[in-house]
Amino acid sequence: MEKSGVKAIIFDLDNTLIDTSGAGVTALQKVSELLKSSLNVDDPATKTICNRFKQKLYKEDFKAAVGKTIDETRTSHWDASIQETVGNCPLESLGSDCYKLWKSSRLQLLTMSPEVQNLLKDLRKSYKLLLLTNGETQTQREKVEAANCEEFFDAVVVGGEQEEQKPSPSIFRLCFEMLGVENRDCIMVGDSLDTDIQGGLKAQVRATVWVKNDNEWASKTQIKPHYTVADVLELPRVLAELN
Ligand SMILES: [Mg+2]
Repeated sequence: MEKSGVKAIIFDLDNTLIDTSGAGVTALQKVSELLKSSLNVDDPATKTICNRFKQKLYKEDFKAAVGKTIDETRTSHWDASIQETVGNCPLESLGSDCYKLWKSSRLQLLTMSPEVQNLLKDLRKSYKLLLLTNGETQTQREKVEAANCEEFFDAVVVGGEQEEQKPSPSIFRLCFEMLGVENRDCIMVGDSLDTDIQGGLKAQVRATVWVKNDNEWASKTQIKPHYTVADVLELPRVLAELN
């Protein structure tokens, strides 16, 4: 390992700096209440609707949905999930109401904790910081705005706005260029082994730091991060070791 110090840190956003999964769970609870009161159905039915929505969200291929906005696409996920579960819905606007409630509840919860904000402020005194997030442009930009990210970073890169997303080396090269650093000057911090850690390894950054995510651990042991932390707040310890 090179002796020179780290100059820049590239951060993932979702489930690294903000609790996207937790916000998603709370948002679905709110939609469940709306569904229950609007459709007069029991808990298993609302659960089925929400699970169907989650499946559609997971399988979403936004590039394939030509001519539709992300809001329209996701409203139609709710419409279809309701229809598949209870048949034709008597309330025409229910899918749209579910989507609006889901989106606003989620965005409201997508804030960086005061501890994470302080960490970033401290790190920025010594390092260049870049936020690198995969995903559809509007969705990710809305999150970046909701979490007030811009002021904490030297640059923000959204995968959906580029030719290729993480783990492609090209998007990492763009980040290095924007910061005016070399790959070996950077570390990559994120919760996804597939995108953040694999991407950092392919781009040959100085070190990759995996913010442990229990869902991924068992299945993907072939991707080996240099460091593993339980929480992004442990990053100063890693940097002390590296420098
Ligand atoms: Mg993530």
